[in-house]
Amino acid sequence: MGARNILVINCGSSSIKFALVNEQRDGFVIQGLAERIGLNDAEARLRWQCNGDKHARALPQADHKQALAAILPLAVEAAGGALHGIGHRVVHGGERFAQSTRITSETLDAIRAMAPLAPLHNPANLQGIEAALALFADLPQVAVFDTAFHQTLPEHAYRYALPEALYRDHGVRRYGFHGTSHQYVSVRAAQISGLAVDNSAWLTAHLGNGCSTCAIVNGQSQDTSMGLTPLEGVVMGTRSGDVDPGLAAHLARALGWSLDKIDAMLNRESGLLGLSGLSNDMRSLEQARADGHAGATLAIEVFCYRLAKSLAALSCALPQLDGLIFTGGIGENSALIRAKTVAHLRLLNLQLDEAANLACTGGAEGEIQRAPSARVLVVPTNEERQIALDTLALLEP
Ligand code: ADP
Repeated sequence: MGARNILVINCGSSSIKFALVNEQRDGFVIQGLAERIGLNDAEARLRWQCNGDKHARALPQADHKQALAAILPLAVEAAGGALHGIGHRVVHGGERFAQSTRITSETLDAIRAMAPLAPLHNPANLQGIEAALALFADLPQVAVFDTAFHQTLPEHAYRYALPEALYRDHGVRRYGFHGTSHQYVSVRAAQISGLAVDNSAWLTAHLGNGCSTCAIVNGQSQDTSMGLTPLEGVVMGTRSGDVDPGLAAHLARALGWSLDKIDAMLNRESGLLGLSGLSNDMRSLEQARADGHAGATLAIEVFCYRLAKSLAALSCALPQLDGLIFTGGIGENSALIRAKTVAHLRLLNLQLDEAANLACTGGAEGEIQRAPSARVLVVPTNEERQIALDTLALLEP
């Protein structure tokens, strides 16, 4: 059999991201984005890149199924007619899914049942799966969960100090997210470093619009910064990360804020955006800091200090530290954020080589520590490839 092609789909409430992964080729054969879909929007459109060429097409008033119906022929053509499977990103797998799984009617029911844990994401993910099943009933389809990699957390790491019935009856516990990214970069880091995955220990920092940290021992997640929802943990673009759990009651009593208002503030108006009063985008903040903007300067200081604090806390889960890995748009590109974060981690014996740190941007991977400190690596993430690898592993031989 020739090299197989997997279409990877990440379906949001008003968008579908897609990429075609060939098991023997780096990069994507075709990748693109359908946006403003499912909103009865005349401006809905599809953009894609194939062989370096950019294309766009209007999809007026398209819903998810119509958008996928436009995407699938493009993917089949780019695959030379041979598409072997579809991998779907699904945000929440709860305790039910510790691994990726072939999609059956039971899988669909279970993802649906998990919707209360991820009310914004799982229903959108399901829309994509259902549309793909309707259009391509004979193709093997696989669900890959953001939470699954973290199902190896020990109980002392995943339980909150809350009444036991909330866990037992309502699933209130820490789940963690970004699992495909943490897994992908830690396996790659072991390869780069000449270590066996099952005999290595890493701290990872996935820093995109959402940010999380993870402690990984012998290929298994042992602790992570996100919790019941993706709001817990480090400072993110617009999410606060950790705050005093008493904050919600305080805002409700003192200011009469509703739960919805508090939730929106913590998820969409906080983080880098809230602290800086300027932007959620790290590139803009770095520029503003260079121009002397006080809010941007503070946002960067808080981001790096809290990130370092999270990494130091997660080091409790490691027997030794083989390396710290930076990934995601910020982790892969920002020498400033890496330098400021590592400067807080001298007690972990981490120090950067300034020139190597500055040189590692724009998709480059490499080691950036100063000898003889513990390893610090930059590893570009590739969640689509990890989803395709999981999908390939579940196809019939
Ligand atoms: P998402 O989580 O949406 O996939 P990304 O992983 O693309 O996001 O990360 C987006 C973040 O990466 C933004 O804050 C962006 O400003 C930041 N970023 C991208 N390039 C750079 C750069 N050269 N320097 C600093 N930050 C960057």
